[in-house]
Amino acid sequence: MNKINITLPDSSIHEYDAGITALDVAKSIGERLSMSTVAATVNDTLVDATKPINADSTVVIHTADSKIGHEVLLHSTAHVMAQAVKKFWPECQMTIGPAIENRFYYDFDIDGTFSDEDLIKIEEEMHNIVNSNYEVFRKDLSRDEAIKIFSDLNENYKLEIINEIDDDEGLSAYTQGDFIDLCRGPHVPFTGNIKYFKLLTTSGAYWRGDENNKMLQRIYGTAFSSKSKLKEYLLFLEEAKKRDHRKIGKELEIFTFDDEVGPGLPLWLPNGGVILNELEELARETEYSRGYKQVRTPHLTKGDLYKKSGHLDLYKDAMYPAMDVDGTDYYVKPMNCPHHHKIYSATPKSYRDLPYRISEYGTCYRYEKSGQLFGLMRVRSMQMNDAHIYCSKDQFSSEFLDVCNMYLEYFKIFGIEKYEMRLSLHDPKHLGKKYINEPELWIETERIVKDTLVEGKINFVEIPGEAAFYGPKVDVQVWSAIGKEFTLATNQVDFAIPKRFDLTYMDSDGKDQTPLCIHRAPLSTHERFVGFLIEHYGGDFPVWLSPVQIAILPVSEKTNNYAFEVENKLKTAGFRTIVDDKADKIGSKIRNTEIGKVPIMLILGEKEANNNTVSVRRRFIGDEGELSIDKLIEKVSLEVKKRSLPYRKSE
Ligand SMILES: [Zn+2]
Ligand SMILES: [Zn+2]
Repeated sequence: MNKINITLPDSSIHEYDAGITALDVAKSIGERLSMSTVAATVNDTLVDATKPINADSTVVIHTADSKIGHEVLLHSTAHVMAQAVKKFWPECQMTIGPAIENRFYYDFDIDGTFSDEDLIKIEEEMHNIVNSNYEVFRKDLSRDEAIKIFSDLNENYKLEIINEIDDDEGLSAYTQGDFIDLCRGPHVPFTGNIKYFKLLTTSGAYWRGDENNKMLQRIYGTAFSSKSKLKEYLLFLEEAKKRDHRKIGKELEIFTFDDEVGPGLPLWLPNGGVILNELEELARETEYSRGYKQVRTPHLTKGDLYKKSGHLDLYKDAMYPAMDVDGTDYYVKPMNCPHHHKIYSATPKSYRDLPYRISEYGTCYRYEKSGQLFGLMRVRSMQMNDAHIYCSKDQFSSEFLDVCNMYLEYFKIFGIEKYEMRLSLHDPKHLGKKYINEPELWIETERIVKDTLVEGKINFVEIPGEAAFYGPKVDVQVWSAIGKEFTLATNQVDFAIPKRFDLTYMDSDGKDQTPLCIHRAPLSTHERFVGFLIEHYGGDFPVWLSPVQIAILPVSEKTNNYAFEVENKLKTAGFRTIVDDKADKIGSKIRNTEIGKVPIMLILGEKEANNNTVSVRRRFIGDEGELSIDKLIEKVSLEVKKRSLPYRKSE
């Protein structure tokens, strides 16, 4: 038999018989590793651990503890769930069942909905399938074979998917026991590899997220490599549920949606208005100190501008349809960029005007399918913390770094400890199609961006093939206090659009040059950022952002007048306050204020009124003792000025 060399990640090389599988390799290393092997990467391709290897190869074995391995485990659990569902509802049709972060789902076309009892029943059957330890087989299929199998099974959605897959991609199915599913794979070798799983919730979901399509029934679930990891994740989900921005946003009267206004169009209530004003003030201060100038642009624009910018060619699906105004097409704006380019070109520029930095909390409108709308995270109208920096090539590096540092500064203010900058690069294969056909400019710009990040000591990961049409970009992912991941903002380099808009500046030799443009939005959109902040803080905003900063609670009617006197002083000092002068007992006033998550309470009894003082009670801290009003104002003013982080439960 032929011998082949397998190179492992530690660079060690081992000789095996040809036809060996990654699972066999794992077995030769140790029984425990083989028991937990879920898939393998053979020569940079992710495959089933049971796929025979016939030539010298590098092999990376995945257990469910790695990110890749975990996804394989999750998706395999989705198959097991579908198998269980098909046992009880043989008539239902399967659609898709991908792994998403730490979870999986599967959408079924079924009459009616799944009840909580159904989930318990399905989960029990999943345990049976797991205990049966079925071997999971891959079958590569021709198009005809695939069509035959899935039309015999009456799986019409699978047929629709088969039709959409290109010939060169290849078709395959996976079977376990009597179950078969169209799938690219890879999958775990045995259903017994899946041990620790849980079904979570069920909901309606339109096929392809399109409200014109049929409503399907989705079941979410999760799976982990160990019991303790599963338990930890379920606790995280419980905490995340408590912090859901839709729930807290309603309880704290921050925002609402109204059917008559329309889906995806948030209304900011007065408490939300306070938060937006504070965020805008922060942005203004930060940008002003860095030389930005503020501009304003209209919400409506002639189609010509979006032809020129390329939006109508590339982005039309995400735009609202045109409206006819006196025979001309007008659009609500999906992005602020073209308007800012027009502001740049409104006056002649020389090298002395550069870098030219203009910013705006600009409102944009994007068409998101109604099935994709989600609280404040996916909306149809949004106010973006937008800015465009026009600079020369020489200035680019320092401008780009300054933007990155601005992100870091904001992270510190908001207590964002975990983040990742993802540098998305172009793929030379798609030049001229997905990316503007300027090979040298791509290479040069990407090099400068990378060097800048390295020199600025900014942590980043590279993601090939994810760049914007007109240049490389840095996407910023952040994690909330409880570890939930959010996509917040991007920072993009644009070397194509300035040329398209004939943007120029006169250099020191009197020659016309084209500037580079940096698009940036570190505070994302108000919608997404406030949604994130609500969940990050669990509704317990820092004092500077709190809609109500200080609640004044007179102990009895006797001190009501004194309470309003104190409130007057605090309002004059610029604080947002309320007085609870209801006839309730002080204990219940304190509880109500706690529910409203007001960070500071002042308890005013006769002693305080006589001493001209206040007794301070801090959320999560408790009594802080008696203070003079001046001292209180001094203390809280400093906290607001410094934009201090909120106190947390654990502190
Ligand atoms: Zn699958
Ligand atoms: Zn832009």
